[in-house]
Amino acid sequence: MRPQLGPELRERLYASAQRAATAGEPDREVLSALRASGLLATAVPRDHGGAGGDAADVNRVVAEIAAANPSVAIIAFQHFAVSARIAEWGSAEQKARLLPGLADGSVLAASSWSENGAGAAKQHLSSTGVRRPEGGWVLSGAKTFTTGAAVADLYLVLVRTGADGSGGEAAYGAAGQTFFLVGADNPGLVPDLGLDLAGMRGSATGLVTLDGCVVADADRLGPEGYAASIIAGVRESGASLGAVSVGIAEAAFDLAVSHARGRGLLALPTVRHRLVGLATRLEAARATVERAGARTAPDPGLATLHSKLHATAAAEEICLDVARMLGSAGYGAGGGADRLLADARGVGLMGPTNDLCRELVALSWTD
Ligand SMILES: Cc1cc2nc3c(=O)[nH]c(=O)nc-3n(C[C@H](O)[C@H](O)[C@H](O)COP(=O)(O)OP(=O)(O)OC[C@H]3O[C@@H](n4cnc5c(N)ncnc54)[C@H](O)[C@@H]3O)c2cc1C
Repeated sequence: MRPQLGPELRERLYASAQRAATAGEPDREVLSALRASGLLATAVPRDHGGAGGDAADVNRVVAEIAAANPSVAIIAFQHFAVSARIAEWGSAEQKARLLPGLADGSVLAASSWSENGAGAAKQHLSSTGVRRPEGGWVLSGAKTFTTGAAVADLYLVLVRTGADGSGGEAAYGAAGQTFFLVGADNPGLVPDLGLDLAGMRGSATGLVTLDGCVVADADRLGPEGYAASIIAGVRESGASLGAVSVGIAEAAFDLAVSHARGRGLLALPTVRHRLVGLATRLEAARATVERAGARTAPDPGLATLHSKLHATAAAEEICLDVARMLGSAGYGAGGGADRLLADARGVGLMGPTNDLCRELVALSWTD
């Protein structure tokens, strides 16, 4: 059966969104409810205890969560992305060891790729993975912008294991980079929630220090130096952060409708038509994300990039229009429309950032 977001969890996610935005901290109770909900099984294959969902399922679940709580939606998105990468690239031992926990919610996963100075395309990583003579690897460096930091149990960490530029070129990631799966119980991995973001304030997006972090070779995901190829395959999957934007835009639109209804404004054709304009833009954003998830476009990778670009822009515009429609009523500190607008901006900054998406689309014309 396909995982569904039930009304009780939706209500809890919704109530927690405002609290977490004010506190600037993740809501651990609501994350426990998410773990227990069965939703985290979405991207895990059935033969490893999961729901066997495809990109369309991932996008649907992420959009549903985002409509109630965008911060939790990006935590879930990263969990689904790591689950899918393990299902795709993991060894038989890694799949048997990790996927059942990722499916039943006892293991929550995060992605730790970004670093200060690495660039949005992660081509200049300073963090390293060095083979130890006695076996295994030692990972060192400072990661930033890890969603789910300090609440995740498993981190997909990207480090440099060889010389940049050796073994071919990549537009996102670089040759000589390798992925490792690191458990939160590894004493060499130190998460820190020290980032004070403008939006997505309940997403536990923080820093991760790799301080002489020792891992086994069995913790390497995919071949050594091969991370850029794994990254290139991600967008082919059709899972799109645009789904988060669709959920945010839906929440903003609902806010506008209930505001107009509550004040008797639906009697005015200008208000009704303005709302229809928002609904049309929301519908178009939803359609691009559904097309990405369905993988029916001639080039599913390009459709995924376009879906992120279109849905993030639409969500930002819809949130801004709704904030304007609400007038002073929407201007209170932490008011729904402004919070949603800050969250909507955050999606465009997530990897691949929108500028990098544009670059990747443009590259397809020169290949
Ligand atoms: C809310 C949030 C959650 C995040 N979660 C995660 C996470 O879970 N894991 C993780 O690893 N990272 C995460 N990130 C980091 C994100 O993936 C980016 O890598 C990071 O924000 C750095 O991007 P930048 O725009 O600051 O990069 P910079 O390189 O400083 O870019 C500066 C500007 O130049 C543009 N630019 C940079 N390089 C290129 C290029 N090659 N082509 C075109 N334009 C370019 C950028 O888009 C940006 O406009 C998150 C970020 C945010 C805001």
